[in-house]
Amino acid sequence: MDELTVVIDAGHGGKDTGAISCTKKLEKDFNLSVALKVAERFKSIPEVKVILTRSTDVFIKLTDRSKIANEAKADAFISIHANSFFKSSQGTQTYYTNVISKDFATMFHPYVLKATCFKDGKVNKKSLSVTRKTKMPAILLEPGFLSNPKEEAVLMTEEFQDTFAEAIVQGSCAFFGVTYNVSTANPGLTPITTVIGTEKLPDPGYIKEGISWVPARSVLTILGALWTFQDKQVVLSGTPLDTLLIDNTAYIKARDLVPAGVGVFYEPSLENAKAVLLYPPKQEGAI
Ligand SMILES: [Zn+2]
Repeated sequence: MDELTVVIDAGHGGKDTGAISCTKKLEKDFNLSVALKVAERFKSIPEVKVILTRSTDVFIKLTDRSKIANEAKADAFISIHANSFFKSSQGTQTYYTNVISKDFATMFHPYVLKATCFKDGKVNKKSLSVTRKTKMPAILLEPGFLSNPKEEAVLMTEEFQDTFAEAIVQGSCAFFGVTYNVSTANPGLTPITTVIGTEKLPDPGYIKEGISWVPARSVLTILGALWTFQDKQVVLSGTPLDTLLIDNTAYIKARDLVPAGVGVFYEPSLENAKAVLLYPPKQEGAI
């Protein structure tokens, strides 16, 4: 199979700051930060070659951005922006212009929305230079509003930008039909089997720097725990837990379940764990 090429276009740059956020941060910096994170993640996916329209804070004309993609005969084009309008404006939008981009935009949008957890601003058709002049499926992402203090605070965090970048890689791989393996894309992670009682979970846990992380939703649901997910953190019985987001899924430390009465054991040993075994509290409704 020929190598697939995706062009990642960090909007604005140099003298063109893009939007200025409600705390005076610049859209061009957000866009570049995300684009670099996307490129970094694609390094572990040999089937896909990434071309960045810019990798530094430089000004590039709109027409040059589409030209880069057209000359490279890219297979997809993704432009990264952040929105700005009213203080009250909110939501995640995906834009496209040409008919050939409609399916791409439609399949891609849910990945972005799942990452942002903002209001669904839907897939929109609009005549924008970079998505109009590109000859391949092309989209422009507006994950949220820099004019909205709540969304801006989220957009500007490193954690959000990581999650958003991850979603862009995931959506691209889904579009290309390329397998996206979480642990190959995150070299620091080793998959570990998670067992609750005698039930083996379909989704793995991960070991990161010697600590085992288990998928929060499935583990806490099976344990019948009272929990919520707030500000990208799992909250168990009112206590926020350290939360790791991998592939848009929340993971919690197995050892953080101990205070709730859960038995936590490792097989064959803690130092060389291949599986983490969780035993529900003996007392009904203890967690
Ligand atoms: Zn912009």
